[in-house]
Amino acid sequence: MNNINTDCPVCKSKNTLEMTSKTEEIPYFGEILESTLLCSKCGYRHSDTICLEQKEPVRYSLNINKDNINARVVKSQSATLSIPELGLKVEPGPKSQGYVSNVEGVLNRFESAVATAIEWAEEENITENALKILEKIENLKSGDEVATLVIEDPFGHSLIIHEDAKHRKLSDEEIENLNTGFVTIDK
Ligand SMILES: [Zn+2]
Repeated sequence: MNNINTDCPVCKSKNTLEMTSKTEEIPYFGEILESTLLCSKCGYRHSDTICLEQKEPVRYSLNINKDNINARVVKSQSATLSIPELGLKVEPGPKSQGYVSNVEGVLNRFESAVATAIEWAEEENITENALKILEKIENLKSGDEVATLVIEDPFGHSLIIHEDAKHRKLSDEEIENLNTGFVTIDK
């Protein structure tokens, strides 16, 4: 465990931002680095999970049911998460974070993203569709609906730990179609 103190980018106080980092060994996966920034003055908080090992581009899929809802999910910053049956997809962006959670936790994150979309929606048909999706997510959590959770990671730093989870290498074409969250400049 390492602690470093630095200036806070939010409230600009001197030496109030503490950065804590620790490494954790994840079974079947390798070593990850979890780092947390916390400002003691304004409460600003940011955490990140970074995989320390270089891996092959990977695609994980899991048919969600109530027996695997607690399966551990490691999502890196560069991963795209989707539930094709619900038309849901979260692509990595400059602000996207890596995290370690479980299937239910991922569903909760989808849920709050959809809820936010409803708040900002101006057209009524968008809201209606979003409400249907929320209902389906609830049904998924209670086991009354089935759908597939897909994680695609061009850097191979994500995974689903469960015997029901399938994984294979991403094809070059699939990688090309993914948004990596990193800025690339064409020459
Ligand atoms: Zn601060």
